[in-house]
Amino acid sequence: MRDGFGREITYLRLSVTELCDLRCRYCMPEEGVCKKRHGDMLTEEEMIDAVEAAASLGIAKLRVTGGEPLVKKNILSICRRAAAVPGIREVCLTTNGTRLPELAKPLREAGVCRVNLSLDTLNAEKYAWITRRGRLEDALAGLRAALDAGFEKVKVNAVLIGGFNDGEIPALAELTGKFPVDVRFIELMPMAAGGDFPPSAYLGADAVLRALPEAEPAAGDGGVARLYRLPGALGNIGLISPISAHFCGGCDRIRLTADGKLKPCLHSAAEYSIKGLTREEMAERMRAAVLAKPQWHGELSFEVRSRARRDMNEIGG
Ligand code: SAM
Ligand code: SF4
Repeated sequence: MRDGFGREITYLRLSVTELCDLRCRYCMPEEGVCKKRHGDMLTEEEMIDAVEAAASLGIAKLRVTGGEPLVKKNILSICRRAAAVPGIREVCLTTNGTRLPELAKPLREAGVCRVNLSLDTLNAEKYAWITRRGRLEDALAGLRAALDAGFEKVKVNAVLIGGFNDGEIPALAELTGKFPVDVRFIELMPMAAGGDFPPSAYLGADAVLRALPEAEPAAGDGGVARLYRLPGALGNIGLISPISAHFCGGCDRIRLTADGKLKPCLHSAAEYSIKGLTREEMAERMRAAVLAKPQWHGELSFEVRSRARRDMNEIGG
């Protein structure tokens, strides 16, 4: 369906949990999340009802996210059932990768066709610092498992953080020379509480092009990413710039949080609850949420923080 500005909404991001085995500094607090009551979270049945309601309104692409979706016990069942919903053409998943060694193949068999893996650095100490507890070797084992499992596409997402990983842009980009992956650099978003980063951490994505003078513009549908390619590479480099060059004009998505709140815009506080509704009522609420989608997310900067009022692990990115 179309929103109030004529944009066709075809993509739902479904967050299946707020919990995570890591604690990335830009995403969630060190102490984790204050666990909500089990009864306040969407059940698997409600998630599938919501996917069916969304499909009835023209949603064709689903991205399963979190928190960390792979810490959710029933993740395979959710993916398998969501992939079987008529009208859903693609089920994709975004993960930190730590559990992909066990789950990559079962996810592929459950119908997940594409996987995005978050990896901000190739330095083990820096990885432990940014995730506050993760081990680089686990994420790299996850990447290898994803490549072996036969997904249609594997992408690596790196949040670009000035003073942290801008010196690693060539090394991260070089993954596209070694593996059939796209590497996408995402501008750090100033979430309300997420991270104590100084203004210099908020680098524009153009820093990637300055660090990769040999990169050439590439053809293809990068979605929200501008695509480039290194000579002879197996995959593309993507630049995702929500801050320096927002892409709200082409936004095709809505979000659903694990506690059942539809978010028409990532950076707005507006939320529409679908918890406890029937599928038909969910579809009505979704229609209302889509029609309430703002034209753009408004100014965002180090000074003007996101108005989302939630950390990223509660929204799903
Ligand atoms: N746990 C999974 C993961 O890390 O891929 C899925 C959820 S995570 C919230 C989804 C994406 O949001 C990740 O790629 C993460 O790097 C990104 N993200 C989280 N906080 C962010 C921020 N403040 N700015 C930019 N990207 C952020
Ligand atoms: Fe967890 Fe993903 Fe957030 Fe990192 S970015 S804390 S892995 S939800």
